[in-house]
Amino acid sequence: SNRTFTMIKPDAMKNGHAGAILDKIIKGGFRIVALKQTHLSEVKAGQFYEVHKERPFYGELVEFMSSGVIIAAILEKENAVADFRTLIGATDPAKADEGTIRKLFATSVGENAVHGSDSEENAKIEGDFFFSGLEQF
Ligand code: ATP
Repeated sequence: SNRTFTMIKPDAMKNGHAGAILDKIIKGGFRIVALKQTHLSEVKAGQFYEVHKERPFYGELVEFMSSGVIIAAILEKENAVADFRTLIGATDPAKADEGTIRKLFATSVGENAVHGSDSEENAKIEGDFFFSGLEQF
């Protein structure tokens, strides 16, 4: 597929960066397939990040991701998964390339402004977590 899934995380929402991040995404050539603002409960955040449940930062991550509103979106572009990870930059903003979303807008390795799916398979699972089939066109 040529789709990926993203979230604008609570830090970027609180810091007022949502508009600038969406602008970078659109100017980066991605079509918005589906988009919504929502608030993850701790239970829902825990489910979303279930793959990380053995990692030492899991509790912190779940608490952070449920600490405020987020924007969730499905994006479409040729080579979407890889190109979006290039656009957002490294997980740790200190290591992210100049001009990337995380370099510009992230606070720390945990509070890093955006999520981007790491594979086509996960992009589909994550998009389906937030959006029904009718919402994806
Ligand atoms: P994402 O899956 O959000 O796009 P990623 O693939 O770059 O991020 P992962 O290693 O999969 O990074 O980690 C998932 C998320 O967990 C990170 O985006 C970050 O919010 C958080 N995280 C990762 N490493 C740490 C850490 N050392 N301390 C705190 N939080 C972390």
